[in-house]
Amino acid sequence: MRLGLFGGTFNPIHLGHLRAGIEVREAFNLDKLLFIPSAHPPHKTADQVANAEDRLEMVRLAIQGEPSLEVSDVELARPGPSYTIETLQYFQDRFGSESDIYFIVGQDAFSEITTWKSYKALFGTAHFIVMTRPRSNLRSLEDFIHTQISEGYQYDPTSNRYNHPEWCTIFCLNITHLDVSASQIRELIRQGRPIRFLVPGKVEDFILKKGLYR
Ligand code: ATP
Repeated sequence: MRLGLFGGTFNPIHLGHLRAGIEVREAFNLDKLLFIPSAHPPHKTADQVANAEDRLEMVRLAIQGEPSLEVSDVELARPGPSYTIETLQYFQDRFGSESDIYFIVGQDAFSEITTWKSYKALFGTAHFIVMTRPRSNLRSLEDFIHTQISEGYQYDPTSNRYNHPEWCTIFCLNITHLDVSASQIRELIRQGRPIRFLVPGKVEDFILKKGLYR
């Protein structure tokens, strides 16, 4: 099985995340793509973040009826900060023997990975898919990988990936990066302006009904 794990705060999930997920699923022929909302994101302050159950529910509503997209509550079940290393180990322990596991991350989040707990160990635990934009700077990505992760990564231009003799592979994929962010959506709500067509209709209804982000 080919399993994709897409972690994030999803505060709220929006069409940028969903389109990216669909494109990664297609490109990597994933059998399943799991959105994994972070219960207690270590890098965000609590007052910016809707409660984890509501963010999980919004993901559930957003992917309803979409084959092979699912949501996981694994980080909600763990107390304390939601560290990706623990999540990857969890999936590796349970599914690693019969699955190829890919962790999906945008280039912006990837460029901050040195602040994540045990970040080098991540690359011994799962393959990475770094979502890049068509004109993003691949040279600086390569420098970053060599200086911050390991000099042992070798770029293979034909498959647009970095191979390592011992560690997992870092794949790059150009995706359609819709210029939408959760912070923009929260700001629009605060200003009383519409968020229609930035999030799925059911997510919009849920936000309005629950009065989130006001
Ligand atoms: P915020 O604006 O609150 O920082 P965000 O919209 O960036 O939030 P996150 O939940 O922090 O959303 O992001 C989760 C993952 O989705 C990250 O890997 C990020 O790079 C990626 N991502 C965020 N926005 C987009 C987008 N518009 N298109 C593709 N990927 C995205």
